[in-house]
Amino acid sequence: MTSEKMTAVVVTAPGQFEIRDVAVPVPGPDDVLIRVHHSSICGSDLRLIKGSMEDINFPLIPGHEWSGEVVEAPERYQHLVGQLVVSDILQSCDSCRFCLRGYRNLCDGLDEPGISVNGAFAEYIIVRARNVYSLPIGLPTLNACMVEPLSVVLYALELLPVNCGERVAIFGGGGIGQLLAQAVKIAGASKVVIIDHHDERLSIAKKLGADEVINSLRTDPVLALSGDSELGPDLVFDAAGNAEAFLSSLEVVNSGGRVGVIGYSGRQEISIRPTTFMRKLIQVQGVLSPTSSWTKAIDLISRQEVKVGPLLTHQMPLKKFPMAFKMMSDRAEGIIRPVLQP
Ligand SMILES: [Zn+2]
Ligand SMILES: [Zn+2]
Repeated sequence: MTSEKMTAVVVTAPGQFEIRDVAVPVPGPDDVLIRVHHSSICGSDLRLIKGSMEDINFPLIPGHEWSGEVVEAPERYQHLVGQLVVSDILQSCDSCRFCLRGYRNLCDGLDEPGISVNGAFAEYIIVRARNVYSLPIGLPTLNACMVEPLSVVLYALELLPVNCGERVAIFGGGGIGQLLAQAVKIAGASKVVIIDHHDERLSIAKKLGADEVINSLRTDPVLALSGDSELGPDLVFDAAGNAEAFLSSLEVVNSGGRVGVIGYSGRQEISIRPTTFMRKLIQVQGVLSPTSSWTKAIDLISRQEVKVGPLLTHQMPLKKFPMAFKMMSDRAEGIIRPVLQP
């Protein structure tokens, strides 16, 4: 395998990428080599490629939402060869002060394939053997590329649990927002509202169980949601990945409520009065890559309790990446997750 070539999307500098042949990576003694089956493109990939994500070293092959088949493994992991898998994204040291406290996502020596080391917009990817999760029979690898974003969502709900009967609002009807809406309903939310400015996304949200949708181009969500404080949301997620949505989240949340920051807004800044948090007694929680929740995500998708099919809006070969990139940049109507098939 060592001298073979593969096709990959290589980001060479902020805003610049090429589809080119690179060497198939060589797994180390603790790694497995995986042939990528499906690799979906998320909003944060766009920010990474455009250069608005902090601390990225180029050249880099992005791609952190994927599934594939183990094709090469060291002796003690031979049982994995031939298995269809996904993989925990956190390649942590497990011995630093953060890892020891359970925060592997804050590890001093953290690597994340697709973010700090090469990812899955390629025919092959290398990951740590012990990070790999085998897929249950009957879970298509296409659907399995949503395990990573659903793990993020389930981790968010570990940090900010929803209580039975609570009302939830979600800014952003992209992949994360749509998965969140389904997950909070399973967890017992009485009402879920999704706010976005694309009707197609909102109609998918309705089909997947959102109780109410708001098109922010036509209706001011702040007015709509905070008109009557009795009906305001107890829990609000900013899954839109822009700083204004965070501000709106603070405005609409009920007094005594919680706000989760799960969308990635890069280097955007806003000004906020600290007293806003005080007066309304708001708790704000940031969300990063999940430290756990992978098996729960696999289970929910494989039992179709969380439906991911309608989110995988486009499929195309790896070489069509520039087209997918353009569609996402232009926010083409209805696009949620284009999936590359290397
Ligand atoms: Zn992502
Ligand atoms: Zn560590």
